[in-house]
Amino acid sequence: MNAAIFTGTFVVAWAASLALRLWLARRQVAHVTAHRDSVPTAFAGSIPLAAHHKAADYTVAKQHIGVVETLVDALVLIGMTLGGGLAWLLEATESLAIDPLWRDVLLLGGVALAGAIVGLPFSWYRTFRLEARFGFNRTTMRLWLSDLAKGLLLAVLLGVPLALAILWLMARAGSAWWIYAWAVWFGFQLLMLFLYPTVIAPLFNRFTPLPPGVARERVEHLLARCGFAVAGLFVMDGSKRSGHGNAYFTGFGKARRIVFFDTLLSRLVPDELEAVLAHELGHYKLRHVMKRIAWSALVSLLFLGLLAWLAGSDWFYLGLGIPADALGVAHARPGVALALFLLALPVFTFVLSPLAARYSRRHEFEADAFAAQNASAAALVSGLVKLYEDNAATLTPDPLHSAFYDSHPPAAVRVSRLLGAAT
Ligand SMILES: [Zn+2]
Repeated sequence: MNAAIFTGTFVVAWAASLALRLWLARRQVAHVTAHRDSVPTAFAGSIPLAAHHKAADYTVAKQHIGVVETLVDALVLIGMTLGGGLAWLLEATESLAIDPLWRDVLLLGGVALAGAIVGLPFSWYRTFRLEARFGFNRTTMRLWLSDLAKGLLLAVLLGVPLALAILWLMARAGSAWWIYAWAVWFGFQLLMLFLYPTVIAPLFNRFTPLPPGVARERVEHLLARCGFAVAGLFVMDGSKRSGHGNAYFTGFGKARRIVFFDTLLSRLVPDELEAVLAHELGHYKLRHVMKRIAWSALVSLLFLGLLAWLAGSDWFYLGLGIPADALGVAHARPGVALALFLLALPVFTFVLSPLAARYSRRHEFEADAFAAQNASAAALVSGLVKLYEDNAATLTPDPLHSAFYDSHPPAAVRVSRLLGAAT
């Protein structure tokens, strides 16, 4: 491979993935708009036309802002690579009188900060314009700013030690560094599984035990029936940020807990709540979490091996905007290869998204079947229909857009399977 050919390959992949994203967005808008005026038959009795209109308008509005963000991100990527952004960061950090490892931490921090700054107006617009327009937003400016500050602090506290460990291994651990780096990365993932429910999530929300009552009794019965022990049942004050509702499992081993958004509890009747929980329980019982961790471990090992090979190749640097006279410095600074890799990778992997989405959707079907067996399929359907309506989720997504982006099966497919199981 030579540098010019690699630049050409990168530009073609960049243009193709950008075109694909824009085309999928256009298809989604066209499909949702074409079905705006009639509620699909399966939902005709449960979702009013006004709610269907709202879901269509919300979906289209999300696509519009998504298209602008996709274009901006694509330009930033070119600016950072071929446009010389990373080369500039390399030069700027090279002259600092600090340990080379810290120069690379600053380089990676610079890339991450650029991404965060570009994303900020979009986050603001989504929260205070888009979500507000459709009646979902409950975040105040003050809360948004405090979330931002906490997020930044966490990114530094968790990201800097991780970056230091990986960069150190890249620089010092010889040609097998990527295997050690993989072990560090995997350990970090496991640590996050433990830290997220116990330390991180409580920084952003308040968790209170699920109060005694019908809902709690039903949940406890279900757990006993399925032979499932948890460390706690919690209600999260999700309503302080948004009207969207959800429920999830988190943690592992003895730290695992079940979290209900208060918005969900206030909307679902105990039957539905039990069925929604049974679905989540299905994910655990069927080892979906373990399988996902195993997959991500395998994929990250492959990517790290790829990075190790690329980091030793001149054309990788030259082809992505590092000038020839900085090549020696770039080879000596592992952060450069890491940053280029993380920037360029999505351009080549976007086309594979349907594979990951399909895998995830298969798990959703399995969890639905588990819920139908251990609770009630009809209650899950009525609970889901309420959630679709409350979240203004479209019932008529474009099938191709859905194949790329949706981790959950389209509403109509999911409901018809469940109703099939119910009869
Ligand atoms: Zn699920």
